[in-house]
Amino acid sequence: MTVHDDGRATPALDGNVLAGRLGEVFGVDVTSARVICVGCGRGQCVAELVLYETGMGATARCRGCGAVVLRAAQIRDEVVLDLRGTRTLRVSLPAPAV
Ligand SMILES: [Zn+2]
Repeated sequence: MTVHDDGRATPALDGNVLAGRLGEVFGVDVTSARVICVGCGRGQCVAELVLYETGMGATARCRGCGAVVLRAAQIRDEVVLDLRGTRTLRVSLPAPAV
């Protein structure tokens, strides 16, 4: 939980909340995508990240060290991703149709 200067608290969620927002960007379900944290090198699924929603968007933190791994915000008709806390993001593509 994050407690703001004015005493309000934002409950922690998990990375599953990002499914819709990132799914629109990548066109696939990214909750099972693997990210590696720049802060500690931990590999984890996006769904495992500790997520905080604010009015500006979402901040996802590493479950290992608490560093910010990614931020996502929708600004008008764009989704803006800040991935500077992500060493790699590995997304599995759907199996090709036969
Ligand atoms: Zn970390």
